[in-house]
Amino acid sequence: MAIRNGETYISGLCDGREVWYGGERVSDVSKFSQFQAAVRSIAELYDMQHLEEHRALLSCYSEEVEEEVGRSFQIPRNPEDLRLKREAYFLWARANCGMIGRSPDFLNVMLAALAAKKSFFAEGGKDRASNVLDYYRFVAKNDLFMTHALLDPQLDKGKLRNEQSDPDICLRVVDENQDGIILSGIKRIATAAPYADELLVWPFPPTFQEGEESYANVFAIPMNSKGLKTLCRPSFSNSGTTRDFPLSSRFDEMDATVVFDEVHVPWERVFVYKNIVLLNRMYRDSRMRELTAHQTNTRLEAKLGFVYSVIQRLAEAQGIENRPEVMEMLGEAAVKIEVIRSTTRSAEYQATLDHENGVLYPDLASLQAGRALGPIYYPEMIDMIRKMGGGALVQVPVTMAEFDSPVGQDIEKALRGAAISGQEKTQLLKVAWDLCGSEFGSRHELYEKNYAGERGALLMGVQREYYRKDDHLGHFNEFLEAL
Ligand SMILES: Cc1cc2nc3c(=O)[nH]c(=O)nc-3n(C[C@H](O)[C@H](O)[C@H](O)COP(=O)(O)OP(=O)(O)OC[C@H]3O[C@@H](n4cnc5c(N)ncnc54)[C@H](O)[C@@H]3O)c2cc1C
Repeated sequence: MAIRNGETYISGLCDGREVWYGGERVSDVSKFSQFQAAVRSIAELYDMQHLEEHRALLSCYSEEVEEEVGRSFQIPRNPEDLRLKREAYFLWARANCGMIGRSPDFLNVMLAALAAKKSFFAEGGKDRASNVLDYYRFVAKNDLFMTHALLDPQLDKGKLRNEQSDPDICLRVVDENQDGIILSGIKRIATAAPYADELLVWPFPPTFQEGEESYANVFAIPMNSKGLKTLCRPSFSNSGTTRDFPLSSRFDEMDATVVFDEVHVPWERVFVYKNIVLLNRMYRDSRMRELTAHQTNTRLEAKLGFVYSVIQRLAEAQGIENRPEVMEMLGEAAVKIEVIRSTTRSAEYQATLDHENGVLYPDLASLQAGRALGPIYYPEMIDMIRKMGGGALVQVPVTMAEFDSPVGQDIEKALRGAAISGQEKTQLLKVAWDLCGSEFGSRHELYEKNYAGERGALLMGVQREYYRKDDHLGHFNEFLEAL
C-alpha cells in the first residue's frame, strides 16, 4: 500500500496514542478541535497525490522500495530526479503558502537520505544498516507521516547530560533485553507529533562526550508506542472562519514535547546504539543535510513569495507601489526570494555523484547559504509587512461579517484604499496580521529562526566545512607571491 490519500491518513490516527493538551488526554486526535486545521491541511497534501494533474510529479517508482512511492521518498540519482523532487516540494509548499514547515516530505527526505547512506550505519554493526533500509521501505511503502525530536530539554548548558542535577531528564537507555532497548526521559520539539504516525529520534547537537553513551541512540517508533506521551503547547489555531484568520485557522502545526516512560524499541528499529562517535558524525556523514535542505529551501521560497505578495498588495492598496522608497523595499524583498530560490538551483547545478552509493547530492555550500540567510530574510520581510500595513493593521473589524452589520458602511469607508474596497482591503489586512501580528505569525518567525538549528552553530559549521576555502586561499596566495 503506497501513496495514501487524506482519508487513510486521518483514519490511521485513532490508534490509542497518548496526547495531552491543557492537562487533559485527547481521546481522538483526528477529531480534536485544536488539531483539526493541521490534520486537514496534511490530509489535503496526501489527497493531492491522487489528483490526475499532480500524480506524475508527486509520485514515482522506487527501485529500493520496488513500488510507486511519494516523490519525496525518492533517492536522487540524476539531475532530473533532483529537479522533479524540487518541483514536488514546491507544489506541496504552495498548497499551504509555505506555512507547514514539517510537511510529510521533510522527514520523508531525511529518511531517504539515511537509507541512501546505510553504509554509515553499518559502522555500528551490519544489522544497523539493514534496519535503516527496512525502516525506510516500511515508511515509504505505507506512506507514513513522520515527526522527529532531536533536542534535550534546556537544562544546564555547562554540564553533560549525565552530570545534570537529574540525569534521568534527558532521554536515555535504561535497560535492554533480547527484544530491544528500553528508554526513559524527554525530547523536544516534535512539531506535528500529535498527528504524525511515527517518531524518529536522533540526538542533536553532535557534541556528545564520554559518559553520555546511554543518551546516544538513534531509533524510530510509532506514535502510539506504550509509555510515549506527547505534551502540546497552546494552539494558535484560531477557531474563527478562514476569512477572519486566513492562515492560523488552517495551517497551525502543533509543536510538542515527547516524554518516554520505559518505552520499548525493538532492535530492528535501532539505528545507532550507545555510540557517541557515530552520533557525533551522523549529521554530517549521513549526508542528510544535502537532501533535507533542498526541501526546506524550496519550501522557504514558496513562503517568501507569499509574503512578498502581501507586501506588494498592501502597497497597491494605498496607491504607493510606484513610489521610489516602496519600490526599493519591494526590490529588496524580491532579491531575498531570488537568493533563496537560487540556492536550490545552484545546488542542483553543482551536484556531485557519491560513488559509494550512486546518489547525486545537491551542493551543500549552496544550500547552507539559504539555511543561514532564511532566519534573517524571513523576519525582515515580515517587518516590511508591519511597515507597509502601518496603523491599518490594528484597524480591522473583529469579523468580516461586520460588513453586513449596521456599522458595515462605516467600516467600509474607514478601510477603503486606492482602487480597493474597504472589504477587500480588510481581507488583505487579515492575512497580513496573521503573518506579522498574531501568535501564529510570531511562532513562524521563531520557526524560521530555529528550525535548522541555532544559526550561530550553523555558521560555525559552514566555516568548518567550507570546501571552497582552499580554492580561494590558493588564489590569494598566488596573488601575494606575485607581489
Ligand atoms: C517552532 C519550532 C519548531 C521546531 N520543530 C522542531 C522539530 O520538529 N524537531 C526538532 O527536533 N526540533 C524542532 N525545533 C527545535 C529547534 O531545532 C531548536 O529550537 C533549535 O535548534 C535551537 O535549539 P534550542 O531551542 O535548544 O535553543 P538553544 O540552542 O538552547 O539556544 C538558546 C539560546 O542559548 C544560546 N546558547 C546555546 N548554547 C550556548 C552555549 N553553549 N553558550 C552560549 N550560548 C548558548 C543560543 O545562542 C540561543 O541564544 C523547533 C523549534 C521551533 C522554534
